[in-house]
Amino acid sequence: MNITYEIKDEKRKVELPENLVFGRIFTPHIFEMDYDEALGGWHSPRIKEFENLSLSPAAMVLHYGQAIFEGLKAYKQEDGKVVIFRPRKNLERMNNSATRLCMPNIDEDFVLNAMKELVKLDKDWIPTKQGHALYIRPLMIATDPVLGVRPADNYKFLIMLSPVGPYYPEGFKPVPIMATDKYVRSVRKGVGDCKVAGNYAGSLAAQKEAIAEGYTQVLWLDAIEQKYIEEVGTMNIFVRFKDEVATPPLQGSILPGITRLSVIQILKDWGYNIKERLIPIQEVIDRYNDGSLLEVFGAGTAAVISSVSKLKYHDTVLKLTEEEPGELGAKLFKEITDIQYGRISDRYNWLETVD
Ligand SMILES: *Cc1c(COP(=O)(O)O)cnc(C)c1O
Repeated sequence: MNITYEIKDEKRKVELPENLVFGRIFTPHIFEMDYDEALGGWHSPRIKEFENLSLSPAAMVLHYGQAIFEGLKAYKQEDGKVVIFRPRKNLERMNNSATRLCMPNIDEDFVLNAMKELVKLDKDWIPTKQGHALYIRPLMIATDPVLGVRPADNYKFLIMLSPVGPYYPEGFKPVPIMATDKYVRSVRKGVGDCKVAGNYAGSLAAQKEAIAEGYTQVLWLDAIEQKYIEEVGTMNIFVRFKDEVATPPLQGSILPGITRLSVIQILKDWGYNIKERLIPIQEVIDRYNDGSLLEVFGAGTAAVISSVSKLKYHDTVLKLTEEEPGELGAKLFKEITDIQYGRISDRYNWLETVD
């Protein structure tokens, strides 16, 4: 398959607002291709102007939610080199999500190349300030105009690009999170380990209630016993005790984050005692009370590392830090962003060069 270009050749002026809020503006171009079971699969890959989609109101995605996505970032380094952080991992994960929702797989090499072409075309839109990047959002949706519940035969795959600043309104300041046992996000053998759109729709009520209480995100507990911590809205969670750094294991209900994977690798190399294990919320509270809980941080593409300032559960509020991020979280944030911005060597080969 060859990518066709359906773009205006005028040079668009790049206008990035001073205060770049997450995910509000998009670059002028988008990658798109279609899948038709009858035509033998994916066809018509093209890079075109960013514009509205035309879909039947009966399009299956709108009714039954066959929608999966990914999130990754491109960075412009000081010498102008453009890199994408671990994109193969995202495409692999997207195919896992696709298989789980009976959607077609994509050719990872082909899509990676398309992604690079698109990023190259719109590279002037990559903001360079610390903490800023070009967020890449691949998306796949079912388009059959049929009101019957079955896997669709037609799909659309898109890649859009959004210049972004820090994910949380707090910027790099620590964020307050609230654990809840009023709702659950996902259960093992469900779709919690896939980036499927429905997971987020189901999480909004809890997030809204957390925000009403002054907390930025929800810390989910396991769906069966409501006993173990699982993850935050869009981040995996790490808890640093005096003798150990712990993160919940991947047992099918939490998203296998690529930032999580990177953090585990770095901590191992730094000689930390890093454990993937069940972490009861009660243990977190007890060890806060006995002084052996040092810090809590989240890890995800959007914020990279986000230190937790306060953790609320029922009537208990653990005050972890105020203005300053936790020590290890800050060190990891620096290490990972130093790799991304090319300030230190890419010793794990995590960066894919665009041009
Ligand atoms: C995307 C996401 C993460 C983080 O994954 P990364 O690959 O590190 O960006 C964690 N949890 C949920 C629910 C997510 O959607």
